[in-house]
Amino acid sequence: MSVRTVTFRNSGEELRVGKILCLGRNYRGHAREMDAEVPATPVVFLKPATALIRSGEDVVLPPISKELHYEAEMVVVIGKDGQNIAREKAMEFVGGYAVGLDMTLRDVQSEAKRKGLPWSIAKGFDTSAPLSSAVSSSNVPNPHVLSLSLAVNGVRRQHANTGEMIFRVEDIIAFCSSIFTLEKGDLIFTGTPEGVGAVRSGDRLVAELESVGSLTVQVR
Ligand code: MG
Repeated sequence: MSVRTVTFRNSGEELRVGKILCLGRNYRGHAREMDAEVPATPVVFLKPATALIRSGEDVVLPPISKELHYEAEMVVVIGKDGQNIAREKAMEFVGGYAVGLDMTLRDVQSEAKRKGLPWSIAKGFDTSAPLSSAVSSSNVPNPHVLSLSLAVNGVRRQHANTGEMIFRVEDIIAFCSSIFTLEKGDLIFTGTPEGVGAVRSGDRLVAELESVGSLTVQVR
C-alpha cells in the first residue's frame, strides 16, 4: 500500500495528499534537452496520490516500459484550501517544501507525445513520486534561491538553482488554482532542471534541496 501522506519533519504533522500537480518544462535547460519549446503558460499534468513513496523505498519499473528516467524537483506542499488565488496572496497558501522525484517512463512518454496521447501512464504509475519529508514554509524564506541536485550511485547528474525556474511558486499557484481547487496537503512538483537520464535496477538515487532536505531511493 502506498503512503498517500506528507509528513513535516519538525512538527511531525502528517497531511493527507489529495492530488499531485506537476509542471513540465519549467527550466530552460531541460526544455532544450527535450527538444521542447519554452512554454508561455505552465505545462501541467497530474499524478495520483497512489504514486507516492517515501525516502528509503524502491522505485519499481512497470513491465510496460524499458526506459526509466529521474527528474529531481522542488515540491510545494499546499497549506490551506484555495481557488483563484491571486499571485500577491499565493505564498500564504504554501504550507511547506519537500524534494521529490518525478520518475518518468520516457519511452512511454515519447510514444504518447508522438501520438498526441495523455502522459498518465508515463508519469503516474505506482512508485513514480518519491517524496522527502517536508519542512514548514517558515524555514524557507525564499524558495527561489535553493540549490537542487541529484546523484545516481554517488555521481552528480543534475545541479541547478531554483532561481532558474521559468514560472515561480507564486505564478504556479495562481495559475493552477484558476483551474483546480487547491486543498491542504496537495503537492506541486515544480519541474526539473537539465541533466535527466535513465536509471536501471540496483541504482541508488539521492536528491537534495538546500534548506529542505534529501531523499534516497533505489530502483528495484
Ligand atoms: Mg518533471
